[in-house]
Amino acid sequence: SKVLVTGATGFIGIWVTRTLLEKGYSVRGTVRSASKGKYLTDYFKSYGEKFETAIVEDISKDGAFDEAVKGVDGIEHVASPFHLKADDPQELIGPAVNGTLGILNSALRNNPTLKRVVITSSCAAVLEILPEPKVFSELDWNKQSVQQVEEQGKAASNITKYRASKTLAERAAWEFYEKHKAEITWDVVVINPPFVFGPVIHEVASRDTLNTSSSDLLKVLLTPSTSPSAMSSETLTTTGSCWIDVRDLAEGHAKALEVPDAGGERIIISAGPYVWQDWIDVAQGLSPPVALPAHQKLAVGVPGGGKGAVHKIQYDTAKAGRILGMKYRSREDTIRAALEDVVTRGW
Ligand code: NDP
Repeated sequence: SKVLVTGATGFIGIWVTRTLLEKGYSVRGTVRSASKGKYLTDYFKSYGEKFETAIVEDISKDGAFDEAVKGVDGIEHVASPFHLKADDPQELIGPAVNGTLGILNSALRNNPTLKRVVITSSCAAVLEILPEPKVFSELDWNKQSVQQVEEQGKAASNITKYRASKTLAERAAWEFYEKHKAEITWDVVVINPPFVFGPVIHEVASRDTLNTSSSDLLKVLLTPSTSPSAMSSETLTTTGSCWIDVRDLAEGHAKALEVPDAGGERIIISAGPYVWQDWIDVAQGLSPPVALPAHQKLAVGVPGGGKGAVHKIQYDTAKAGRILGMKYRSREDTIRAALEDVVTRGW
């Protein structure tokens, strides 16, 4: 069967595409331009006609997906802006919300045989910053970021603007689904991942344009020999988040398409919590080590300083285990892959 993957040129989208192709699906990947599509058609050329691209210049435009949705059995809606440089929150909220509603409306109008739409939301739509540590579940919604953006507008922090965009987009998806449930042949599954790390296989012009989560990890792991690590010891040993390997997340997206019981569910997929120092320790402990290029050095930070750290945000992942049978890669596997990219791409 055939699946439409939006944002196929991105860090996660290309892995979702690759995983589906490996499982025997045909994939149509959306790209913003023919030139961006060329990298993908080259990358997936061994799949011949099983991979094709569709040009969707801007997901926020009305009817942007009207053609792309035609004839597919499933949709993986991955595209949404994830950067932390928006001045006006609408730069993120616009494409996030209109892209999600747009693809659902196009599917409603133009695909009478569609079976399922999987949407990549985020733990950003789940978590709130609270004084006490909390284990969040699918019942939790990030109302806090939405409220802060409403109150502060441009003055809200960049991460708050992003979190609000993901919350509003997911909320819009569920409202759409509730409203149209009775008239559609398909259902909706939402996947909520935390920070995503792992091997980068999409086109990246230079390290400056690397996707946000991969870039954040490399900033912590690598210390340019001329300057100290960007984070203070205190930040390294006390702050972090939860994580998942991009390959596991892609597997989760494939399962979300296939498992009947996933229909209508919001599912958090997370391998567990970290503080940034943990990743440095994992990188330092790799055996055999990854031989980095001469201009890059592994950071040292405060070895072992993350042990016993209080993880303020954790997730209950029972549902992902029960419904999707999720299994997670080790931290070593993820970090080795991320460092090998530094070698092969010359970052
Ligand atoms: P990337 O920036 O690598 O990918 C984003 C993709 O969306 C790109 O293909 C991008 O195209 C496309 N896109 C963004 N805005 C538009 C637009 N207006 N019109 C058309 N295409 C657009 O980020 P990720 O792969 O990390 O993110 C993918 C999804 O995963 C997003 O929904 C993100 O919110 C979610 N997510 C990511 C996490 C992470 O840690 N990486 C964590 C949780 C959720 P182009 O490159 O051409 O701009």
